[in-house]
Amino acid sequence: METSGAAPDLLVVADRVVTMDPERTVLADGAVAVAGDRIVDVGRADDLRARHPGAAELGGPGRMAVPGFVNAHQHLTGDRLIRSAIPDDLESGTAIFSWAVPAHAAHTPADDELSATLGLVEAVGNGITFTVEAGTVAHPDRVLAAFDTVGVGGTLGSWGWDVEGQPWAGTVSEVLERQRHVLDLTDGHPRVDGWITLVGHDLMSDELVVAASELAATAGTGLTFHLSPTDSDPRRYLERTGSRPLVHLGRLGALGPHVLVGHGVHLDDAEIDVLLRHDVALAYCPWAYLRLGQGVTGAGRHADIVERGGRVALGCDAENAGDAVDVLRTAALAAGLAKDTRLAPERFGAHTVFELATIAGAAAIGMDHEIGSLEIGKRADVVLVDTTTPEWVPASTDPVLQLVWASDGRSVSDVVASGRIVVRDRTCTTVDLAALAEQAAEHHRRLVLDAGLPVRATWPTR
Ligand SMILES: [Zn+2]
Repeated sequence: METSGAAPDLLVVADRVVTMDPERTVLADGAVAVAGDRIVDVGRADDLRARHPGAAELGGPGRMAVPGFVNAHQHLTGDRLIRSAIPDDLESGTAIFSWAVPAHAAHTPADDELSATLGLVEAVGNGITFTVEAGTVAHPDRVLAAFDTVGVGGTLGSWGWDVEGQPWAGTVSEVLERQRHVLDLTDGHPRVDGWITLVGHDLMSDELVVAASELAATAGTGLTFHLSPTDSDPRRYLERTGSRPLVHLGRLGALGPHVLVGHGVHLDDAEIDVLLRHDVALAYCPWAYLRLGQGVTGAGRHADIVERGGRVALGCDAENAGDAVDVLRTAALAAGLAKDTRLAPERFGAHTVFELATIAGAAAIGMDHEIGSLEIGKRADVVLVDTTTPEWVPASTDPVLQLVWASDGRSVSDVVASGRIVVRDRTCTTVDLAALAEQAAEHHRRLVLDAGLPVRATWPTR
C-alpha cells in the first residue's frame, strides 16, 4: 500500500487487521501507522517497522485491529444520570412524559457535561469513536467539553422543538438561532461537527423542519430528528396532514442526503420509496425498540432498506432505551432480527452488520471520507480487540463472524481515537472513572429530587 509522508508517532500492531477498505482486506500480522490524528500507513507489521523505525507500538500478538465504530443515535444527556431508573414496565407515554422530559428539564449545565462524559467513556470502552448526538442537548458547550475531555469524535446540536409548554422549547427562529450557535461553537473543531438536531416526531412544525433542513444544507452539515419508532407519528401526521410522515416531509422539500432519520420503524412502502429516492439515511436502534416494545419485529424494514441500497447506521439510543452503549451488541441483534423476522437465515449476516457498524454507518452519516475504515489519510480511529479471552478460543478463520456473534464490546482492549490512545488495557486514559463515580451518584440523587421522579426499588433491599 501507499504511504504518506508524515513520520508516525505510533504503530498499532495486530495478528489481523480488518481494514474495511473497498476490497475488505484483512491483513495478517498487520499494522496501522498513525501520525498526529491521521492514518499514514497500513500494511504488514514488519514492512511498517522497517519503513517507520523507532515508532512506539500498541498491540501485538493476541490482538485484532478494526476501525472505530459509529454510533448514529445516542442521547448524551437526560437518561445517563437516571440510568436503569426508569422501570421497564411503563407505557411509552409515561416513560417519556413522567420520566425523560422532567429529567431533561431538571438538568443543569454540569449534569449535561457529566452525563455526556460518562456516556462517551462507556462508548469508547466498547470501541465507539464517533457518536451522533440524538437531539436533546440543552447545554451544547458543556457536551462539547465532554467530547474534548474523552477525546472522541461526533456530532452535536442543541435541543430543537417548537412546541409550547415543554422544556427547552422555542419559536422557529429561536430554535434555529441555537443551532447556528452550535455551528459557531464547533467551527474548526478537529473531531466534532455541528449538526442541526431536532427532537422530531410530531414535535416540529412544518416551518421548523423546512428551515432546519435548509440551514443544514446551506451550512454543508447534517440534520437529524426522530421519526416513527412507534405507529404514533404516522397516526398524528395522517390526522394533521393527510399523509404519512416521510411522504409529508418529502412533499415539503425537507428531505435529502444530508438528513439522518432516527428510527423509521413504522414506514410503509410509499415512505420507503421516498426515503430511497431522497437518499435519506436511517439510524437503527433495535435494542430500544425491543426494550420499549415498539414493534420492530413486525414492522421493521431496515434490512430491506439496506438490501435496496439505502443508507443505514446503527444506534444505541439511550440508557433507558436500549441501554448498553455497545454497537457490536446492536449489530448482532440487527442481523438476528433480519433473519428471524423473515425466516431467512441466508440473509443479513455478520459481515453486513459489521459494515453498518463501520464503513457503511460512516457513509450513512456522510462521514465515510473521514472515518469507518483503516485507510491512509483517514482519521486514526483504531480499535484493538483482545483475542486471548475465552470467546476467541479457538480463533475462527473468519474474525468478523466471531466478533459479531461470539463477542461484543467486552473484547475491546485498546482504542486510538484521532491518533490518541484513549483506552489502554480496558481503561480510559483520559477520564478517571472512579473519581467521577462519586460525583455521578450525587448528581443522580439531586436530579431525582429536582425532577420529582417516582423512583422505586422493585424488590426489598435488606
Ligand atoms: Zn432518540
